[in-house]
Amino acid sequence: MKRAVFDPTQDMGQGNQPAIAYGDKSRCHADNCPCRGTVSLGGGPFLCAYHAWADGREWGRITKALHEHAWFLEFIAEATRLHLYPDRKGRYWEARAREFWTEQPDMQPTPRECGKWPEYLTRLRQELAYRVGARKDRPVPLAPEPAKQAQAKRAVVREVEEAMQ
Ligand SMILES: [Zn+2]
Repeated sequence: MKRAVFDPTQDMGQGNQPAIAYGDKSRCHADNCPCRGTVSLGGGPFLCAYHAWADGREWGRITKALHEHAWFLEFIAEATRLHLYPDRKGRYWEARAREFWTEQPDMQPTPRECGKWPEYLTRLRQELAYRVGARKDRPVPLAPEPAKQAQAKRAVVREVEEAMQ
């Protein structure tokens, strides 16, 4: 996967040379978008998940925000690699994600998400969509497993019953 770093010399606004991205057919169709195009709606051109469902008038703003969040895209790419192969220290994506999001613990994988890369990846992508303005609501991690939920509920009921005695 290519590193998603914004190169102003490749910006259409900086000259008449087309951006390298235009020669790469796997790129999102939105001008200068750093992402791959993976979604084609109604047989249209391939767009990334951030542009695909957004109003066309928002595209420029979303592209700019995606470049500002290149670090986030790089983290997703890095964690994806670690999901497939541990690094030299034997770390997988869970450890790297905890380290990466030290300052934002709510972005670290929850106990439920550990070992469930697709679920965590979905939340990362939804979070990025929210941060770049392509999604209205901030995603929340999925609730704990129903069994654990039921167990927790029983514990609360027991506590209340005990308190009432
Ligand atoms: Zn895009």
